[in-house]
Order: sequence, then structure tokens, then C-alpha cells
Amino acid sequence: MKDCIFCKIAKKEIPAKVIFEDSTVMVFEDIRPSAPVHILVIPKEHIQSIAHLEGNHKGIISEMIFTAKKIALEKNLAGYKLVFNVGREGGQVVDHLHLHLLGGWNNKEDIDKMPHPDLDNK
Ligand code: AMP
Ligand code: ZN
Repeated sequence: MKDCIFCKIAKKEIPAKVIFEDSTVMVFEDIRPSAPVHILVIPKEHIQSIAHLEGNHKGIISEMIFTAKKIALEKNLAGYKLVFNVGREGGQVVDHLHLHLLGGWNNKEDIDKMPHPDLDNK
């Protein structure tokens, strides 16, 4: 996809701090981290978002999640968040599918501030 920043990263046309890649996915550090560890997992194929997935993308999504799990283990993250923002209303800014791996918090104050929707209603 022309003019897609993550396609350009996947093709190494623009630089990124790449952590892992294979023929299907690429993993790199987020340029504006919103957690002590903030890593993005993208498919090399251009898919716009979760809302644009088709049946033949099941293997790609599976590999993205298993890759995130592997990286989290390598980074010794005790706990972490995996986030897909979907569409502008869902906070998606870059229109190339990406999975946010967020973690590295180790102080109680930050952890206590996290929303727990199910627990808050009980
Ligand atoms: P989203 O809001 O889900 O679309 O997230 C896009 C993410 O991509 C943001 O966290 C940005 O900081 C990150 N980002 C944008 N451009 C780059 C880049 N060139 N290299 C690494 N991360 C980027
Ligand atoms: Zn793209």
C-alpha cells in the first residue's frame, strides 16, 4: 500500500527499532511509548484494521498474538495489555493493522489506576 507508514517500515524503507521479524509479521518499538514497554506487532501484508479482516487472515492474527506472547516472555513482562484500536472512534491513527503490547509497570500506584470495569460494578 503506497504511503502507508507501517508498510514502509515492513519493507525497511523507513527506519524503526525492529525487535523481530519473519515472513508474516514485524515487531518494533512504538515511537511515542505510552507505557514503560510499548511494542507494536504488525502483519507485513497491508490490512487496514480488525474491521477489515477476512476469513483468510485467521493465521496472521494468530501469529500476531503468539508473537506478542513470545516477546512479552523475552522482555520478562509479568503482566501486559494487548490492544487493537479499531477505526478513528476507537483511537486508531495508523490505518495498518497493529497490535499494541504494553507493559513494564511495576508500581502499585500505576496498576491501581487501571480500569477494571467488571470489578468496579461489584
Ligand atoms: P494507533 O493509535 O492504534 O493507530 O497507534 C499508532 C501507534 O503507532 C502510536 O502509538 C504511534 O506512536 C505509533 N507510531 C506512529 N508512527 C510510528 C513510527 N514511525 N514508528 C513507530 N511507531 C509509530
Ligand atoms: Zn500498510
